[in-house]
Amino acid sequence: MASFREHIAFSSALGVGYAFGAAALLEFTPEQALLGGFLAGIGGMLPDLDSPTGKPGKEIFALTAAAVPLVLIGHVLAWTGLPPETETVMLLLLSMYFTIRYGLAWVVDKLSVHRGMFHSLPAMAIAAEVTYLAYPSELTTVKLLMGTGIALGFFSHLLLDEIYSFKWSGPLPGVKKSFGTAIKFTGQSFGATAFTYAILATLSFLTMENAGLVGPPEEQSAIPMAEQTDTADIEPVLRHAEFPEPSFQRAELPIPRYQEAVRPEDDLQDAPLFR
Ligand SMILES: [Zn+2]
Repeated sequence: MASFREHIAFSSALGVGYAFGAAALLEFTPEQALLGGFLAGIGGMLPDLDSPTGKPGKEIFALTAAAVPLVLIGHVLAWTGLPPETETVMLLLLSMYFTIRYGLAWVVDKLSVHRGMFHSLPAMAIAAEVTYLAYPSELTTVKLLMGTGIALGFFSHLLLDEIYSFKWSGPLPGVKKSFGTAIKFTGQSFGATAFTYAILATLSFLTMENAGLVGPPEEQSAIPMAEQTDTADIEPVLRHAEFPEPSFQRAELPIPRYQEAVRPEDDLQDAPLFR
């Protein structure tokens, strides 16, 4: 098993490359690319959330408890309808921190087994989809950048765990008992596997719906793509600015439109004359 430090070093190195690639090749802003890189670094710790009592587990829970409320606070305010006042926001952030740091850690400790379904490919997809759905952006591309960052780091952890399950001592290279317990699709427990896939199916549907791949066509157009970027928010305002008095214009419009529409028909009626 690779150490906590090795996992972080590996995923952070990948994160640097990811951030660089996102900024240089994919035209994300440097800030977006950097955040994506950070998420790749964090993704490299996530599989060890399955052992909250160990030192790495404690560290990850502390980090998750600090980071997740920052991402979710906007959603929570919207869901609860609470006023975005300083005290309300601070109380919410603190209660979310303690809920994750101690409440969720306790639940995970009771339910999970180390190298169970947390160390698996469906868990990687779940982590990526949760990030995609929770990331507060209107842009599918930016949400995708963050989700993929988490997936990249997560996969680096699984890969490193598998690499460490090889034995290089002795006359021939062999494998330890831990071989195949990280990069896997199913766990030993049927219940845990079924539960993981149920979550994965639900989140996959929500993600595809959010990306406009399934669902009613109105929702598809509701998600602006990268080309529309920064102007998306102010577009409605601009539209209003162009038509300050719609009622006045509407009264004038029908006449020229009607005339233009009639003209081609006149031409058509004239057409038989050429025969
Ligand atoms: Zn691990």
